[in-house]
Amino acid sequence: MSAEYVYSVRMRASTDGRHVSGFERLVEDSEVDAAVSAMTQRARNRAEEPDFVQVTVERVARSAVSTTQVLRLILTPPSTAALAQVAGSIRLSDAGVSDTAIDTAFRLLTYGGDNGQSARGAMLIDASTAENVTPDAQRGVRASRFDYRPDPTPSPSLKGRESAGIDEALAGAGLSHFRTREALALATKVIWSGVLAELCWSDDAGYVAGYVSTAAGYVRYADFKPDGAVGGRAFFVDTSAVNVETVVENLERRALWIDGPLEIVYVI
Ligand code: AMP
Repeated sequence: MSAEYVYSVRMRASTDGRHVSGFERLVEDSEVDAAVSAMTQRARNRAEEPDFVQVTVERVARSAVSTTQVLRLILTPPSTAALAQVAGSIRLSDAGVSDTAIDTAFRLLTYGGDNGQSARGAMLIDASTAENVTPDAQRGVRASRFDYRPDPTPSPSLKGRESAGIDEALAGAGLSHFRTREALALATKVIWSGVLAELCWSDDAGYVAGYVSTAAGYVRYADFKPDGAVGGRAFFVDTSAVNVETVVENLERRALWIDGPLEIVYVI
């Protein structure tokens, strides 16, 4: 373990210029090679192999890495996608997102942007006016340089990460899928960056779960995605309270470890 540096390892894959997959890690030097290999495997193991895969390894000063606690995970009872969308909209509204901003985000994540596709990153939406404030709307904004914090005294059975406790909590709730684990970390980075609320469902046609997250927690809906929706992420920003450039800098450039323990709450 290097005392001075950790490494941001990230992947993006595309076909015909269309984004198909991405992956973000922040790892110790001893984990870099395994992370790179996991990234190329993730990119190439898709039903349709991408024609372009880029993996970036970047050194980050350990002193520049902040730490935060993982968001509370709020689990909702089985429902229909339509009802879950209403419930998710109420959560967003309670967090201070206007009806017009909620409608705009649902439309963007259902039908895509001007090109009918989801962006490589997320859309930044003004939580009040619904204006799309993403600096480059085709590219979107990427949450980057984050991961669960490695355990300084690793035990083989715990996979050597603080996230081991998080993995156990997720497994206990029947949520061992890598997507939930990764989305929870991403959502934690997003809220830590100064985003008011996030709306997400996957662009993977077969994956219908999604979430709404705010500082109060990550609310997971097992069935959330509208039929045929393109997928994506919307980050709602309160532009009267935060500066958009600062939020983008936090999302894309500032490094973050995410710590347990993970609190899981069931709501009815
Ligand atoms: P996925 O959950 O991987 O299916 O991703 C769904 C959508 O979320 C993608 O199409 C992107 O628009 C967006 N997305 C994925 N990863 C990130 C990220 N690291 N930062 C911001 N947006 C992302």
